[in-house]
Amino acid sequence: MSVLTHVRPTSRTTTYDQLTPFRQTLFDTAIADAAEAANATDYNHAQQRAAHAAGLTIPTGGEVTKCACLDCYCTAIFDTSGPGLRVIETTDYGLVLHQCATCTDDHPTPVED
Ligand SMILES: [Zn+2]
Ligand SMILES: [Zn+2]
Repeated sequence: MSVLTHVRPTSRTTTYDQLTPFRQTLFDTAIADAAEAANATDYNHAQQRAAHAAGLTIPTGGEVTKCACLDCYCTAIFDTSGPGLRVIETTDYGLVLHQCATCTDDHPTPVED
């Protein structure tokens, strides 16, 4: 038996940089649609499209987001129900900005009140 290499707490991540320009556009469009969704059904559909564009699988009603870290140029995309994430702020539009687990480990952003 070989020894497994260290596995990060969540495997449900990718990075925006890894996506093709086409998928980046799909992802951006889906996230924008989610932000403007008039109801939960539309929101969930948009989130599923965003996850699909990023090549991630999220549960029904799940959410994906891009790391909103202010301290580096991280472009991680991840399931917001994953472990080790940090909420930076909630925008006026009700969008919750998260730092990915890696950034939370390395340089957690102070949360302003
Ligand atoms: Zn990050
Ligand atoms: Zn960071």
